Amino acid sequence: MIDTPKHQGLRKQLVKLIEEKGISSKKVLQAISTVPRHLFMDSGFVEFAYIDKPYPIGAEQTISQPFTVAFQTELLEVEEGDKVLEIGTGSGYQTAVLIELKAKVYSIERQQELFKKTKLRLPKLGYQAKSLVFGDGYKGLSEHAPFDKIIVTAGAPIIPKALLSQLAIGGRMVIPVGEEIQTMMVIIRKSETEFEKHEHGSFRFVPLLKDKN
Ligand code: SAH
Repeated sequence: MIDTPKHQGLRKQLVKLIEEKGISSKKVLQAISTVPRHLFMDSGFVEFAYIDKPYPIGAEQTISQPFTVAFQTELLEVEEGDKVLEIGTGSGYQTAVLIELKAKVYSIERQQELFKKTKLRLPKLGYQAKSLVFGDGYKGLSEHAPFDKIIVTAGAPIIPKALLSQLAIGGRMVIPVGEEIQTMMVIIRKSETEFEKHEHGSFRFVPLLKDKN
């Protein structure tokens, strides 16, 4: 499968919709208009790639809704060269959006099936993450910390302590917190011990799951 003018046209319409829904960052809108979402979808859902909804990607997981990806990415305020930790690689779509923004991306996925599929997919589409890790996002990636930015793409019942400790001072984390429904939170690390928190509305994500072991 390839990217065609038809796909590009559909993406333009999607970007317009996302802009109307309140995303204003030009950089983020540009990234959404560049990443071929249809190449991150399961074959049965490809025709819906440019509809603003989440879809199944296997292992009971979903590719996030494009608006949600744009919203979280905008809140993350990615700068070129930022070291970004993503929890929940899933399809790799969000990873690709971060790479479009010239971030150095480290991403963790706990479902073996998705991890394997996405590890092959991303480089094939020209997206080179710094590191794709099969593991438990609750633990973060201490060997590569600190991170300028951390983005969690599954609903976290609690804010994992390890992630707070792996955030650089001055860094920011975007994380949906809650059980059934999540509050989108931005956490800014002010000092070794101080964290500032801001709330940005309600969302519904698949849950951030505990380690299987
Ligand atoms: N960013 C993804 C969203 C996938 S949905 C995309 O754009 O497609 C959330 C993902 O988080 C799922 O793939 C799920 O398997 C993963 N996940 C859930 N719990 C996790 C954990 N503890 N550690 C790492 N990944 C986790």
